[in-house]
Amino acid sequence: MKLGVLTSGGDSPGMNAAVRAVVRNSIYNDIEIYAIRYGYTGIFEQKIEKMNIYSVADIIQRGGTTLHTSRCPMMMSSEGVDRAAEILNAYAFDALIVIGGDGSYRGAAELSARGINVIVLPGTIDNDVASSEYSIGFDTAVNTAIEAIGRIRDTSLSHNRASVVEVMGRNCGNIALFSGLAGGAEAICVPELSYDADAICAKMLRGKDRGKLHSIIVYAEGAGDVDKFCAEIAEKTQMTTNKTSLGYIQRGGAPTAFDRILASRMGAMAVEAAIAGRMNTAVCMRGGKYVLMELSEALSMQFVFDSEAYRIAMQLSI
Ligand code: ADP
Repeated sequence: MKLGVLTSGGDSPGMNAAVRAVVRNSIYNDIEIYAIRYGYTGIFEQKIEKMNIYSVADIIQRGGTTLHTSRCPMMMSSEGVDRAAEILNAYAFDALIVIGGDGSYRGAAELSARGINVIVLPGTIDNDVASSEYSIGFDTAVNTAIEAIGRIRDTSLSHNRASVVEVMGRNCGNIALFSGLAGGAEAICVPELSYDADAICAKMLRGKDRGKLHSIIVYAEGAGDVDKFCAEIAEKTQMTTNKTSLGYIQRGGAPTAFDRILASRMGAMAVEAAIAGRMNTAVCMRGGKYVLMELSEALSMQFVFDSEAYRIAMQLSI
């Protein structure tokens, strides 16, 4: 048997652990394993090389992706995908294992429609892959965000300030929601829900009246205009309001134990799926268990915002 593996789309901590698991489990099962560098771009540029047991040494703890990744415009046209399928056919892989987010899944589905067997696993810090409760990298990103929130909270408390922490999430508020819940934020602004700045200010002022010395608001980048929001908060509460944008520091860093375990289990499962002939599937975590789902079914699922977690976060920060 012969497999290929690539990482695609935005990098996420734990992608290396997933690649390591794919490579090591392939070698364990006497399968030839090839890495394709730079995501789908590496297919077109034929940056394809055979891996051995040493190729993935010392990467389980590293953030980013040592295979590199890319956004590949060639995959967005029908002719481009035809060409990618032609190249992959020449290599005669039994399956291509794709580690990435929703966009990468769509690219894999296009290849699958042209007869290339694919198996996908969720690698994105946003945790917006509908078919899986967790994606590789999300736990690390949330942990990075709450560490930063903790540091900002110290200064916010010392100076009696309001702090707005802008986190990643253009279309999906998961990082804001879970770092806000874990960081005890007074308000969480996400793209999925409209927010009421007056209600947030009223809550902050109620807290101030009770002797609360600071406020933390977590704001997902896609929730609106963060600078306008900060100005409004400052004006209405008369609190000095500081904004901190965490930006790319949330994308990198050593993966948490959770992400390494998730990645190792999912990577190994992808190889086992290939051995079992379960092609064109997505590796998912559902109900806390690792399961395989048909890729078409995985892609038909709609991402659902966790409104229950949001409700609890708001109740705990009255
Ligand atoms: P992610 O996988 O993290 O969601 P992107 O949305 O940027 O990241 O997708 C990664 C790559 O997957 C894109 O650069 C493109 O090559 C490929 N891709 C995305 N959407 C499609 C699509 N609808 N059809 C074919 N390929 C796609």
